[in-house]
Amino acid sequence: MKIVVLVKEVPDTYGDRKLNLETGLADRAASDAVIDEIGERALELALTYADAHEGTDVAVLSVAPEGATATIRKALAMGAGSATHISDEALRGADLGLTADTLAAAVRRMGFDLVITGNVSTDGSGGMIPAMLAELLDVPHATGLSAVDISDGAVSGTRAVESGVQQVSADLPAVISITEALPGPRFPNFKGIMAAKKKPLEVLTLANLGITADDPDAARSIMLTIAEKPPRAAGIKILDEGDAGEKLADFLIENRLA
Ligand SMILES: Cc1cc2nc3c(=O)[nH]c(=O)nc-3n(C[C@H](O)[C@H](O)[C@H](O)COP(=O)(O)OP(=O)(O)OC[C@H]3O[C@@H](n4cnc5c(N)ncnc54)[C@H](O)[C@@H]3O)c2cc1C
Repeated sequence: MKIVVLVKEVPDTYGDRKLNLETGLADRAASDAVIDEIGERALELALTYADAHEGTDVAVLSVAPEGATATIRKALAMGAGSATHISDEALRGADLGLTADTLAAAVRRMGFDLVITGNVSTDGSGGMIPAMLAELLDVPHATGLSAVDISDGAVSGTRAVESGVQQVSADLPAVISITEALPGPRFPNFKGIMAAKKKPLEVLTLANLGITADDPDAARSIMLTIAEKPPRAAGIKILDEGDAGEKLADFLIENRLA
């Protein structure tokens, strides 16, 4: 069984997240770069399966800037057997379409039985990559799973929906996306960190994947304008002169909040 886990490097959720107002791109210098937590949970799922199924090959894949090697190596320290890092100047500010094309070409090149992704990233938050990837790879896709069971030849899971839960399953090869309901990641131990230094980490460019970033036939989204978020307006203070409840009710009704 070959499991490919998609991990994205993102600005630290607890750090200062800024967009560069000239380029519209995430200002990566504003905070530390980390593996998106949902990606760590996806990797934990794959490693838990591999712990119980000898011979399982767990590989991580990331489209990320040149400097992301240390972040990707953390996934190797957690226990992934190998990593593929797609890094290319032409991917700076890549939109969902180009990112999905690039990831699909890399996954095809790596070979796979199961691709595990997060349901949504914490920076771009498009929530589209898993579905776009499954479409490009022409395989089934089980989305937003809160519990997963990987078996020989199939994957099944539970998805929470408004009216309850759905049980879904797909034959392999397939793509699944997981939610934060999945167990949290293991911490890399010293042995894992040392072993990660020797594990294979290949760095590829778009040319290695036969992808052209400015393909005239490909639909690409472009950013037109960007502006600072307006400062938050000061809230309304309600002084309680025995009628705070009434004033609050009026406020809620006026603002259609009740
Ligand atoms: C603030 C902001 C706004 C953006 N707005 C747009 C927009 O409107 N339209 C547009 O086309 N693009 C937009 N982008 C770019 C888009 O975010 C990137 O293309 C991004 O790489 C993929 O989208 P996502 O993070 O939203 O993916 P999601 O679909 O939210 O990611 C889901 C999962 O896919 C996998 N994944 C996603 N990206 C990668 C990666 N680079 N490497 C490995 N695995 C990955 C991870 O497992 C992740 O958990 C925006 C980016 C930012 C930072």
